[in-house]
Amino acid sequence: MQVTEVTNFELVKQVQERLQKERTGIHLSDLDLCLKASYFRKLNPQPLSLKQVVLFSVGFGVQEYMYPNAEKEYELDGIKCSPDGYKIEVKTTRESMKNYDPTRHENWTMRMKGYCKVLETLEYQLDVVFIIPAEIKTFHYTYTQNEIDLNWEQMLYRKNLLQTAFDTNIPPSPDFHPDWLCKYCEHSGACYSLG
Ligand code: SF4
Repeated sequence: MQVTEVTNFELVKQVQERLQKERTGIHLSDLDLCLKASYFRKLNPQPLSLKQVVLFSVGFGVQEYMYPNAEKEYELDGIKCSPDGYKIEVKTTRESMKNYDPTRHENWTMRMKGYCKVLETLEYQLDVVFIIPAEIKTFHYTYTQNEIDLNWEQMLYRKNLLQTAFDTNIPPSPDFHPDWLCKYCEHSGACYSLG
């Protein structure tokens, strides 16, 4: 038997293209992390790294198997929202379940509260799929209407910042960019050179 190991760049390219399919309008998922990355993603898309392709594929794959009937798209105040399932968000993580803190991921919380607003509910479910060791846990969140409304105000503010950046062609400030995001960001070159 003979075995040859290669990286199948054609396959990687196909997945890359699927992951980076152009979408219209401003989505809730454009607003819960670095606005500068969202700006570049739209106006100056760069190929994803191999690591991003693998991680995103795992995330989307798990989501599609768990909730195969795609939830419909909603729109409120010019923000498009596509929940993973009805009142359900799915996340995969390489974090250990032992140390997992369901209140720590601020961007996940922003997203769920945003979906609460558009779906007119106070309750949301988060399914977290832990990769190693393999495990799945479901968390139920109940927010107050005030928490949901304040979060929505913040989303509208961020939407306006992003829209202004598109209109003026000046990148917004990178106001929410944790280290792990910059580490894997395909726009780091443009980000640092364009300021
Ligand atoms: S490198 Fe960091 S700050 Fe720059 S666009 Fe990417 S995520 Fe944002």
